[in-house]
Amino acid sequence: MKTYTPITKDIRRRISDALGDECIVTNQDEVGTYSKDASGLSYPPELVIRVQETAQIQRLMRLANEYKFPIIPRGGGSGLAGGCLPVLGGVVLSLEKLNRIISVDTQNLIAQVQPGTITKDLRDAVQQKKLFFPPDPAGMDQSTIGGNAATNAGGPSCVKYGTTKDYILGLEAVLPSGRMINTGTRTRKGVVGYDLTQLLVGSEGTLGIITGLILKLIPYPPAVSAMTAVFSDLPSAMQAVTQILNRGHLPSAIEFLDAKCLLLVKDILSFHVPGEKSTLLIIEVDGNPEQTKRDIKTIGKILKEVGATHLLPAFNEKERGDIWNVRRQVSLRIHDNYALYIPEDVVVPIGKIPALVAELPKFEAEYGLKIYAFGHAGDGNIHLNITAQNRDNMNRVEMGVKAILARVIQMGGTISGEHGIGQAKKRYLSMELSAESIRLQTEIKKVFDPNMILNPGKIFPKEDFNNRLL
Ligand SMILES: Cc1cc2nc3c(=O)[nH]c(=O)nc-3n(C[C@H](O)[C@H](O)[C@H](O)COP(=O)(O)OP(=O)(O)OC[C@H]3O[C@@H](n4cnc5c(N)ncnc54)[C@H](O)[C@@H]3O)c2cc1C
Repeated sequence: MKTYTPITKDIRRRISDALGDECIVTNQDEVGTYSKDASGLSYPPELVIRVQETAQIQRLMRLANEYKFPIIPRGGGSGLAGGCLPVLGGVVLSLEKLNRIISVDTQNLIAQVQPGTITKDLRDAVQQKKLFFPPDPAGMDQSTIGGNAATNAGGPSCVKYGTTKDYILGLEAVLPSGRMINTGTRTRKGVVGYDLTQLLVGSEGTLGIITGLILKLIPYPPAVSAMTAVFSDLPSAMQAVTQILNRGHLPSAIEFLDAKCLLLVKDILSFHVPGEKSTLLIIEVDGNPEQTKRDIKTIGKILKEVGATHLLPAFNEKERGDIWNVRRQVSLRIHDNYALYIPEDVVVPIGKIPALVAELPKFEAEYGLKIYAFGHAGDGNIHLNITAQNRDNMNRVEMGVKAILARVIQMGGTISGEHGIGQAKKRYLSMELSAESIRLQTEIKKVFDPNMILNPGKIFPKEDFNNRLL
């Protein structure tokens, strides 16, 4: 089998001559940070390049084709699937300095941005002009818009507003060949030719390096109200979700936390966790100020009707901040408390959430796991935070993960709703996709990247590429 060329002194000199010495990161502590993302995986880069302009990326891609070394695009490094890690060595290409918001067009409700723009910075900048970029991944103060596009990031607001792909009108990208492409439109509609924009979105940096984005904005909702509701168990909480939606309400967030999550943060809750199966719903509505207040009151009534034991409305920023802090603290504490932490983000049909969560204790007992479940109840996206106290029995843990994912697929679900496949989940790809679907997708990859230099080793296991590099 062929292998990639290591980054020799000669190659490094060619890169330095072509791009300028200043974009090579030399501080070893800093280089170390590029060996990780938020997945818990770690692969050291041979070289880290931080570019300042798109032309440098084109020159780098040409050298990568000439010598056959991998290039791994990286945004904020907040990914949970190891997508930006150099699993087969090569050059990590950081886009964080390409971070300008080029324009916010209030007449046509679009923004033009560079890929390294931090998600929260964009949301704040457009909000100042009373415009809204809805995608709200919880890691938004670290993630970049380029990374969000490459993973088609979601977040709590997806239930009402959709995912990142719904806000991308057009892209500028450097292809693996080094050539540039502009896809899509600056208009809100367009159906000319195949939709290359949406092919690049969610492709996890394997088909092209996104260097510019044209984003759709919408008017900023002037008011937001929120409410938390405690239920004695998860099925009644999910019944409440169905009732809210069936009675014509479309909240801008419907999140749930299971009993294990609640017990983990009981010291910061403003209520007593009544039982071992208690479940919390967080509901947010946005829009006109008077209407949101009315909506949250009506939703409160529905929640009571279906058995909420405790309701806590939040009409102002401080109260809403407290609610979301509970959600954030759960993630942080799970991450900090366990030696082994595997973040899965499965999706099942909404009505199947209680059945899946009810089966988790069986998987915990059989495979020695502790699983914390929270997530986006309104769209069926459950973050299964799979933990163990040590890493001694990885085989058993992986068998457990596989068994859970198999069950999710059996329920009509998918193994990833928003984090992507990257390195972490590629071994499970064929559980969900047919051989024909994988064949077609790997053929697409070869058309874009015949030398397999752009983010190799991601999404598809190497056997899907037969005798090629990887
Ligand atoms: C605390 C926390 C909460 C999170 N919550 C959510 C959530 O609610 N919803 C959600 O969807 N995700 C969430 N995530 C995951 C993560 O924030 C998203 O996947 C995010 O989109 C990654 O963006 P990034 O810039 O950090 O990308 P990176 O981690 O740097 O890269 C991710 C992938 O995108 C590729 N990539 C990055 N930039 C480019 C580019 N310009 N061109 C081509 N490819 C590129 C990389 O090669 C890699 O495959 C969370 C993460 C954390 C740590």
